[in-house]
Amino acid sequence: MSVQQVHATLERLSNLLRVEAREQGAHEGLLPVQLEALHYLFQCNRYSDTVQGVSEYLGQTKGTVSQTLKVLQSRELLEKKPDMKDRRLVHLKITRKGRRLLTNVVPARFLVEALDGKQTGEVDQLADLLRSLLRDAQAARQMKTFGACKTCRFNESAGSGYRCGLTGESLSKPDTERICREHQYPIACEG
Ligand code: SF4
Repeated sequence: MSVQQVHATLERLSNLLRVEAREQGAHEGLLPVQLEALHYLFQCNRYSDTVQGVSEYLGQTKGTVSQTLKVLQSRELLEKKPDMKDRRLVHLKITRKGRRLLTNVVPARFLVEALDGKQTGEVDQLADLLRSLLRDAQAARQMKTFGACKTCRFNESAGSGYRCGLTGESLSKPDTERICREHQYPIACEG
């Protein structure tokens, strides 16, 4: 497949994802960007669940993001919680209702149907290839990676658990699966 064909295929797939997000969002009374913000908060860690984190992930101003978050909060899909150590910092926590809503809309139905019946190895291979494509594109544009903590260069083993080399704090196994706004790939894997 030529690069042109790859581009055309990705364009068609992104269009399908957008159409489905619009339909599913309308069904739930939400805009696609509100669903995207909720999905981000569903996946991110405690260093990233802030207005700043959502703003960087969506590439929108804090003012625009605040409007999105207000709607999610009024629908009781997320709640604000002050940080235990720094009371000026506010975390955005997805509620049980928010989680329930999200599991109805993510992953997109057409993806579930298209990948149903494929071998696990094939799906893993596709995920690896897409991840690698995204990583290279982000590196070329010097964008934040928002990768999973377990793939970060600051992630260190500490006894039977893990530790963040950047903050010095302990990380649980579930923490290492979450995405982070401070994430960086190991130097050898960049570019
Ligand atoms: S190890 Fe990396 S990804 Fe994990 S919390 Fe620390 S900075 Fe974030």
